[in-house]
Amino acid sequence: MSVPAVLLESVTKEYRGGVRALDEVSLAVERGVFIAIMGPSGSGKSTLMHCAAGLATPTSGKVLIGGKEISALNETRRTQWRRDHVGFVFQGYNLVPSLTVADNVTLPLRLARRAVDRAWVGALVERVGMRGRLGSRPSELSGGQQQRVAIVRALATNPDVVFADEPTGALDLRTSVQVLDLLRDLVDQFGQTVVMVTHDPDAAARAHQTLVMVDGRIVDTLRAPTSEQLASRLTSLQKG
Ligand code: ADP
Repeated sequence: MSVPAVLLESVTKEYRGGVRALDEVSLAVERGVFIAIMGPSGSGKSTLMHCAAGLATPTSGKVLIGGKEISALNETRRTQWRRDHVGFVFQGYNLVPSLTVADNVTLPLRLARRAVDRAWVGALVERVGMRGRLGSRPSELSGGQQQRVAIVRALATNPDVVFADEPTGALDLRTSVQVLDLLRDLVDQFGQTVVMVTHDPDAAARAHQTLVMVDGRIVDTLRAPTSEQLASRLTSLQKG
């Protein structure tokens, strides 16, 4: 077995005031899989993502990214490790408005003082269909195009894992489908690893598996569920 992209061992996160947002969560994210995380509001999805990405430290338990225990690092070293090993895709794209597409996608490499792997970045740009727009600024692009640029940026460092937070939340239905198909293809063709938080069953249905969270725990792991199965599972939780 290869080292998992991300490993959580009995991770608990308590916020001030005693809220237990994660309750001894253990999870291995294997390489080359696309995982969706769903669950009612307040179930701990964001907290799980923040701990798994090294943005927050657990109260107890361990987090390993690419085999490195990041929960044991100080903030400076954790930030460095994250920059090299984790990519992020957000609902609002978060591109730098003053930079061209070419400069936006290579920014993480420059921040990490790493050489640009032109063959890899070129293959990504080609795959997302943005080769003709390398000189454009974000404001000249549609939302779907901006998100495709953000996906290239997230993958430019060839990270152990990409965390996507509601990546299609600001896109119309047709564009959402294209972006999700793209994420799935990048996982299937390029062996990348994606963990996506979403409340949209149609989005989660594009992943290989969906984890369902309730009250800070993973209560279900559904493999290749349909969006109908996911929707009814979530409805049953909201009623219960
Ligand atoms: P989700 O992303 O599923 O909506 P969160 O991870 O945001 O869930 O929240 C899980 C629980 O932790 C909730 O009860 C929420 O109110 C609480 N929580 C989240 N962030 C904080 C914080 N910074 N301080 C205190 N409580 C928080």
